[in-house]
Amino acid sequence: MKISVEGVKSFIPTGKIESLISQQSHIPESRIREIIAKSLDKNRLEPEETAALLNVTDPELKQLILAGAHELKERIYGNRIVLFAPLYVGNECVNDCVYCGFRISNAECLRATLSQEQLVRETQSLVEAGHKRLIMVYGEHPMYSPEFIAGTVQTVYDTKYKKGEIRRVNINAAPLDIEGFRTVKSVGIGTYQIFQETYHEETYGKLHPRGPKSSFLWRLDGLDRAMKAGCDDVGLGVLFGLYDWKFEVLGLLYHTIHLEETFGVGPHTISFPRIEPANGTEFADRPPHQVSDDDFKHLVAVIRLSVPYTGMILTAREPVAVRDEVLRYGISQIDAGSSIGVGDYSSHDEESRKKSQFVLGDTRSLDDVIFELAKSGYIPSFCTSCYRAGRTGEHFMEFAIPGFVKRFCTPNALLTFAEYLYDFSSERTLQAGLELIANETAKIGDANMRQSVQEKLAEMKAGKRDLYY
Ligand code: SAM
Ligand code: SF4
Repeated sequence: MKISVEGVKSFIPTGKIESLISQQSHIPESRIREIIAKSLDKNRLEPEETAALLNVTDPELKQLILAGAHELKERIYGNRIVLFAPLYVGNECVNDCVYCGFRISNAECLRATLSQEQLVRETQSLVEAGHKRLIMVYGEHPMYSPEFIAGTVQTVYDTKYKKGEIRRVNINAAPLDIEGFRTVKSVGIGTYQIFQETYHEETYGKLHPRGPKSSFLWRLDGLDRAMKAGCDDVGLGVLFGLYDWKFEVLGLLYHTIHLEETFGVGPHTISFPRIEPANGTEFADRPPHQVSDDDFKHLVAVIRLSVPYTGMILTAREPVAVRDEVLRYGISQIDAGSSIGVGDYSSHDEESRKKSQFVLGDTRSLDDVIFELAKSGYIPSFCTSCYRAGRTGEHFMEFAIPGFVKRFCTPNALLTFAEYLYDFSSERTLQAGLELIANETAKIGDANMRQSVQEKLAEMKAGKRDLYY
């Protein structure tokens, strides 16, 4: 792969963003209400509007923003939470990102790449826990070529085990060239995620001193190349803690606007990890721009309102209490029962910490997370139907097509949840889950739809599987 940034220009207006976030002048409540109303009307916000929300410091106005994000989630997306698990394939890496346990200069990192047999075993363990959706994660190394990535994805899809299989694989890996993206697309990947880490170019340069990732522009252009290669579901993200969080939120927004303007469609998902401690990585213990829990809540709500059509991913990096609360402000996907050491799902050993990229905040099992979700009134969903029915860009459909959530998403969430309960759950989760399903089915307004879902649930109870709309 030849890295070339000829003709690539940054679409991040650094000076403009700096001036937007430095405007601390008092913004009246009426203006904040107007901006929230625009978002609730399903419009993406402009940078000036997002900056106004970011700059709010008054506690009451902050509450207004949190309430707006909560209302948007409830109104447009309902109470489903999609579940997935990360699968780390290999931690070899030629880059030297100062915050990451996999960086080339970290002598404490125990290097590992799954063999074909190990990959099958890892997949079997995940299937056995009840997972249907994965994100496969790779360091950046010539070993992890597009053909290698495509091969590992294919192996996962081909692994049928006991009562299930993985039905959707997303990718988090280094940016490829267009040809490389075509190769991974050809095996049927879902979303391709590339986090910019920081949109502040000067900071980016300091924190990525070596390897292909040292090119800010190559990375910034990565999702353009993915789109050009036909990967039309792409995921944005930044690593919060590297630079000013307000700057980063506006960076995400400018990237969104760039994709909309260039390809007519924005990102499928946005992720907002905060830096976690990592083995042998002092930088990660004291990140220069650590984001407090309060600011984190605020920024999640502002992202929700700014890009109302996008999926939002909250990972198990966050501790349980933060996750439980932030879920309210517009999260659509979480991982659960996650292990992030290479090979950890099937053979957890003493050394696994040294094979991990960072330390997780939420280590509950998938079943425990599902139990808690059901108890709190969320419908855990393993739905993969849009992607498999060729309805790509599904998140946008949920948002844009009136009635789509009622016709597809909620029924499919209920069916995939029932499938999980019958095949994989503990007794207490089964009881809590069936109760939730009965309540939610009764709430379906359209009598035909309600009857159809009830029939499918009965078929599921009788042993049929993989039913969806
Ligand atoms: N190697 C590829 C890359 O850098 O794009 C893909 C996978 S990398 C393993 C996934 C993401 O983990 C990175 O994009 C970064 O945002 C995040 N990450 C790295 N170190 C982290 C840390 N100490 N805490 C939390 N997240 C971290
Ligand atoms: Fe390598 Fe990715 Fe870690 Fe950077 S973040 S050192 S590229 S694995």
